Formats: sequence, C-alpha cells, structure tokens
Amino acid sequence: MTRKSVYLFEEGRADMRMLLGGKGANLAEMTVIGLPVPPGFTITTEVCREYQQTKTLSPEVLAQIDEALAKLEQKMGKKFGDSTNPLLVSVRSGAPVSMPGMMDTILNLGLNDETVEALAKATGNERFAWDAYRRFIQMFSNVVLGIPLSNFESILEEHKHRHGFTQDIELQAEHFKQIVPEYKAVVEKFTGKPFPMDPREQLMAAIHAVFRSWDNPRAQVYRKVNKVPDTLGTAVNVQAMAFGNMGEDSATGVCFTRNPNTGEKEFYGEYLPNAQGEDVVAGIRTPYPIAHLKETMPAVYEQLYNMCELLESHYKDMQDIEFTVERGKLYMLQCRNGKRTPIASIKIAVDLVKEGKITKDEAILRVEPDKVVNILHPAIDPKAKLDILATGLAASPGAASGIAVFDPDRAVALAGEGKKVIMVRPETSPDDIHGMVVSQGILTSRGGMTSHAAIVSRGMGKPCVVGCEAIKIDLEARLFTVNGRTIKEGDVISIDGATGNVMAGEVPVVDPELSPEFRTLLEWADEIKTLGVRANADTPKDAALAREFGATGIGLCRTEHMFGQGGYHPERMAVAREMILAETKEERLAALEKLRVMQREDFYEIFKAMNPYPVTIRLLDPPLHEFLPDEEDLAIEVALLREKGASGEELKAKEELLRKVRALSEMNPMLGFRGCRLGMIYPEIYEMQVRAIFEAAAQCNKEGMNVEPEVMHPLVGIVTEIAFLKDLTDRVAKEVMEEYGVTFKYMVGTMIEVPRAAVTADEIAEYAQFFSFGTNDLTQTTFGFSRDDAEGKFLRQYVDQKILPENPFVSIDRRGVGRVVEIACELGRKTRPDIKLGVCGEHGGDPASIEFFHNVGLTYVSCSPYRVPVARLAAAQAAAKARGAKAGAGTV
Ligand code: PEP
Ligand code: MG
Repeated sequence: MTRKSVYLFEEGRADMRMLLGGKGANLAEMTVIGLPVPPGFTITTEVCREYQQTKTLSPEVLAQIDEALAKLEQKMGKKFGDSTNPLLVSVRSGAPVSMPGMMDTILNLGLNDETVEALAKATGNERFAWDAYRRFIQMFSNVVLGIPLSNFESILEEHKHRHGFTQDIELQAEHFKQIVPEYKAVVEKFTGKPFPMDPREQLMAAIHAVFRSWDNPRAQVYRKVNKVPDTLGTAVNVQAMAFGNMGEDSATGVCFTRNPNTGEKEFYGEYLPNAQGEDVVAGIRTPYPIAHLKETMPAVYEQLYNMCELLESHYKDMQDIEFTVERGKLYMLQCRNGKRTPIASIKIAVDLVKEGKITKDEAILRVEPDKVVNILHPAIDPKAKLDILATGLAASPGAASGIAVFDPDRAVALAGEGKKVIMVRPETSPDDIHGMVVSQGILTSRGGMTSHAAIVSRGMGKPCVVGCEAIKIDLEARLFTVNGRTIKEGDVISIDGATGNVMAGEVPVVDPELSPEFRTLLEWADEIKTLGVRANADTPKDAALAREFGATGIGLCRTEHMFGQGGYHPERMAVAREMILAETKEERLAALEKLRVMQREDFYEIFKAMNPYPVTIRLLDPPLHEFLPDEEDLAIEVALLREKGASGEELKAKEELLRKVRALSEMNPMLGFRGCRLGMIYPEIYEMQVRAIFEAAAQCNKEGMNVEPEVMHPLVGIVTEIAFLKDLTDRVAKEVMEEYGVTFKYMVGTMIEVPRAAVTADEIAEYAQFFSFGTNDLTQTTFGFSRDDAEGKFLRQYVDQKILPENPFVSIDRRGVGRVVEIACELGRKTRPDIKLGVCGEHGGDPASIEFFHNVGLTYVSCSPYRVPVARLAAAQAAAKARGAKAGAGTV
C-alpha cells in the first residue's frame, strides 16, 4: 500500500501536527468541528523530509496531489484553468512548530491570461481580477522563481507616476492590463522562459518552492535560535482562495482571543476592509481595531466573536486567528495558539485555571522558564532602536546603560561621583569585585558562562555579557575598539544580558513587575515540584534575597567570596593576602585567626537569615594566586620603581610580593593547587573555616535556632582526601560543641567535580554524607574543556557546526557529564542509600538541566537567587511531565 502523503482538511485532526504541520492540523480541526474553512488539502512533512534528499516529488505523491485537487474542484464546483469558473488557490507552508514569516506563501495561484477574464466576469469586478493577477505574478516570480521584488515595484511606481497617482488603490483595471505584460517580460528576461500559464505547472512549482524554503537561510537561522530541529520539515497547504478584496463588504484581519501583550481577557486584533491578507502584514494601510468591525459588519463581528470563543474553549488556550470576509461571508483561514509576551503567558495560564479550562499542571507547562527569567530584570524597551556594536555571551539577564570604565578603582571613583558605569574588562577576578559592586553591568571580552564575571554577576543580579571577543580592549589607553569604532572611557554604552548585545549609547529600559499571577503560578509550582530549590548565596544579604525568591536552603556558599569581596570589605582581602603571604605557620595562624572572626560573623548572619532551612558551606576553593595582584602588573610596577630609584623598603615589599606571586603561579591553575588540595596541604586553613562554621552554628543553637550546618569539601577526587577532611571536620565539631556546651547535628559532604570522584563515589560515600555536583568543574574536567577559555575559542563554532548540540556549560551534556552524574548517584546510593544529592553548578538554574536532575532523582538544585523562580517553575514542569501532563491540546 502506498503511504498516505496528502490529506484533505476533513481527513486531519489537531493532534496530527507532526505530520500535517501546525497550520494544516488546525485547518483540519476547524473543518471537522464545522467552522467555515475554505476547502483544501495538506501535503505532509514526510514528503518534505524526503524532498530535502531527493529534490523531487515521487510519482505516488504527484498522483495523490492530483486526486486531492480533483476533489477540491468538485467541492468548489470550479476547475483549475477553467475559462468560465476557475479555481484559485493559496499555497502555504506550515511546520509542526510555528515559524512565522520564515517560509513562503503564494496566493491567487491559478490565474493566467484566460482565467483572469473569467474571474473578472464571475465577480463582475475587472479591477479586482487584474489586480489579483498582477499580485500573483509578482509573488510567484519572487517566491518561486527568485526574481527580486524591486523589478516589479519599479514598474508599478512608474505607472503610478505616469498617471500622477500616489496610492495603489488609484490604479484601475486598464492600468493593470498594461502592467501585466511588463511583469511577464521581466520574468522572461530573468528566466529565459515565459511566465507559466498552466495552473497545474504553477501549482507544482509552488509546492517545490515551499519545500525548498524549509532550507532557506532565514529559516535555518530561525530554527537554530529557537532550537527547532532541522528534521521536522514543513507541510504544504493548498487551499481554495477566499477574497477579502472584493469590495466594501469584504475584509481581512487577524484577531486574538486575549491580549497577547498583557494577557487580559479581551477580544483583540485588527482588520482592513477590501484588502488581502498581505496588506494587513505589509503595513501600507493602517488597519482598524477589531471593535470597529462591530459597527461596519455587525453580523460578521458577532459570528467571528462566537467562533473565536469556541476555538479558545476547544483548544483551551489563547488563539491567534486569521479570517477573511468575502462579500459578507466569513471564512476562517488559520488558528493557532497565539504567541505572547512572557507576562501574558503567565496571566493567561493562571486565568485559564481559574476559569476551569486547564489544570495547574497544564498551566505550569504553558510558561517557558527561560523567558520568565527576563521578566525579573529590566529589559530593553522593545520599541527602542539599537546601535549594536557586537554580541557576546548572554551571561546574566537584564539591560543596563552607563559610561564605559576599564578598571575597578576608576569604577568606584566615577560611581562615587554619581555616574552610572559599565565595567569593561578582559575578564574579572576577585580583585575586581569592588568595581562590579558599583557598576550597572559588566562586559568582558573573554571567559564563558561559568567564568568569574558570569557567576558573580548572576549572584548580584546584574546584567553581564562575557566572551565578547569582537571588542579589543586596551586597558592602558582606557578604550576598546570594535569593527573600526572606538569606545573610550566615559562614552556611554549599553549591554543586554538577555541577548548578549553590546550597544553604543543609552537604551531605554522597562522595569520588571512581579504580577500577582506570577506569585500564584509559583505557589502552584511549589505544590507540584518534588525537587528542592536552594540558592547559591555568599552573604547574609543574598541569603535574605534568596528566601524572598522562594529558596528553601542554600546549596552553595562560596567562602572565598567572603574573603575577596574587596568592594564590601577591602580589609578582608588584605587579611587573606596576609594569610597567603605568611612565611611561617605562626604568621599564617595569626592571619587565620582574624579571618575566623570575620567568617564566623558572616556564617552567623547567613544561618539566621535562612533559619530553619539548611545551609551548605563550601570551604576555600580557588587557587590562591587569585587573591594576589596580577603578575604582569606587579612586574611592571617593580620595574618602574627600580627605574625611579624608589626607597629600599617599598621596592623590597613589592619584589617580595612578586616573588610569591611567581611561586604560586601555575600553568593550569584550574587543574592545580586548589579545592580540597589547599586543605590537605594547609589543614589550618580548613580548620579555621570549619571552626568558624561550627562556632556560628553553636551560637545560633544556643539562641534557640535549629541550625544544622552542612560542611562541603570541594574538588575531592580521592577517598583519602575526604577521609582526612571528614576526620578534621568531626574533630573541630566536637571541640566547638564542648567549648560552647551545645550539641547539634551537622553533615560533612563533598562536591563531585572530577570524574574520578564520580567513579569512586561508593568509596567516597563511606565518608561523605552528601554529594553536591559542581557541574561547572565537572563539565570542564569531563570534557577537558577549560571553563574560562573554551567558549571564546572554539565552543561557539562547535555549537554552530553542530559538533555539539549546545554549550555544555549552560545546559548539562546528558550523554557525557550527565552520565557521570548518574554513575556517582548510583555508586553513592549503593554505599549510603539515603545520601543527599544536590547540584550547585550553574546548571542548577537551567530548565533543561533541571529536568534531567529531577529524572536522576536528586534532592535539590541550587542556583543564583535571581534564578530561583525559574528553577521552581522548571522543577514543577519536570514533575508534571514525569507524571504525564502535557501543555494542552495543540501546544508543542
Ligand atoms: C562548580 O564547579 O560547579 C561549582 C559550583 O564550583 P565553582 O563554580 O565555584 O568552581
Ligand atoms: Mg567548582
């Protein structure tokens, strides 16, 4: 039996969108429920997939098209190419996922020198028929034959000019009769062949063109940006024409069952009397609001309104509907779930639940978490004109403008004068924090989505663009150049952390607004989700913020951020340096003692802010050189001092510092002396931190709080590391409890950040009571990709060339890194069935990764406070999906 490749509208259904495309499936559904849809048929996406290989239509498919065409002719009582009663059709694309405007459409197909006369006679409107004919030649020639539109537009303009007209509407039948041969001459000139007069030949060429358009460059780019698989293919819909341009009793328009911008329940849309669909889109004439139709065609309005209501109830979602009125008769040409702003998507989903149309599970699945993150931050006014200089990685959402400033101290000084600044650096380090704190946003030319700049900005909720390699920064001259333009310190620039765009000048922004519907949706998300959502927070302020966003714990407190937050406490950085530069153990212990007091205060405040939720504190992790000045800068300073003949003392101190920096320098610092290796070699550092944690916990418990700290050791890869560190932690816990005269529970755990830890997780779990996956490092170490360099150097090309489907630092690589996570979970559970499992890498805030973590059965995810609402929503989606919920009929 031959495969069915062509479906009449009455043979399809809404749930056949993979085969018939969204448009075809919905035309079928409307036909079946009895709405007035001009008859037609759909050629399936399977044919498109085949076409991409063979570039031809098989005889079986051609036969089915002919058969469907014959039925269409019969139904309409019209014939293709008939000289008295000709059939005219539209040919449109329609993929399973809506790709508005990306592929091709041809209207009025079937017109030729004979049928145009017949159409004129049948409608009694010569002008209409000849206008339709010249439009068809123009559209067909452009879309199917690839002739630029300007060739036709210039002819039209020339005729208008000749007669002193300014508007197309002034042209009459006799003018179009002169224009048509000129159009046909253009075609002959370009193709060497006359314009095809045979409607069947026209139809076949149009079907080929629509299938070809699946692979046109703009469709390819759209699919890439919107993550639409190339393999879906488009269907082709062939439908009898309905004419909205047959006079003042005809019209064409688009309407929505709810406001797509705000989500308000109101009948919304616009229409044009005496016009064809393309006129509404082209914007040549200003359409009327839909309410106006009530006055001009009350009966049609009433019918349209009722059908829209019916469609919304049928699909249980806001509908976007195209309609045409031909001589007072209403036709539905398309319906689909309407595109909407993130704010509207939330309101509509919540309202539909309240109206009893959908379930809470369905509502949760209707809102895209990735888009929600943007509504928590200021966004660029969509109406703004942008002067885009370059595009980097969209590292932390939000839009900001300010003057470009190239070093943190200048940023602090200029911000102190009340200026808004954007800090621009090749990359950032803890040394830059004070500048980041006072900046509106951060821009770096290097680094990736898990770089220091990205992580810290996300934590601060500041817009950030990283890895913008197109900008060439000259720190000394305090400027950057990009595509021949120069931006100097003081010039205003803007960044958009949602798109990665860097712009010249100031851009208008709109402030975020947390609607009551959003709060309701998040409450439902909490009812549905099973995965815990914690936050990565390093300060009492962040902890409070995390709680406000709905975090139920801290999954990662990076203690080094407390040392390094020079902007808040420059004295801490100085003490941290004292500790690192100490020559003797005594000196180091003295510095550590000072740090212990500082850290204890922080921990106390964090515990208090989060009480009664759990807090995981990670011990010192980065390579120590990160706390020291840059080697190159220091070498220059020393050289200058020598040249100036500076005093012995000053020079000696700097030389000493340089010697130490050089001693600590490593070829591969991210694989070097960092993480728990610091605690193994300098146990006194970890001992100090553990003591500070337990002292703070003891104090809280004495005050009646119930604090059970979770002490986390980073970068463990060998069981003997965690055995030693567990012992150290337990010993200090015992000492502190005795000193304070209180007992409390606590946990000792490890991060899983290197593959060796994952594959020996059964041994490690003998000592670790919990695992937290540090997927930033785990991605780095599993792939062997530097998290600081890969994105700027080759990863983008890897994704562009589809060597990798996605940036693995953003969305977990399920096959590789994900598998490593699964192995660690399996082995960990084998030793310790109740082991607590979490993730605190940046993937903890990525919706696709969250679904994976839910399926693996983790206890919680942890992400930056600003991403907590997104994670709550994504966690609920994962739970709803796992129990079989779908977004709803007609939704992909
Ligand atoms: C990680 O590696 O995923 C992690 C959370 O630690 P950091 O980013 O601080 O290295
Ligand atoms: Mg790490």
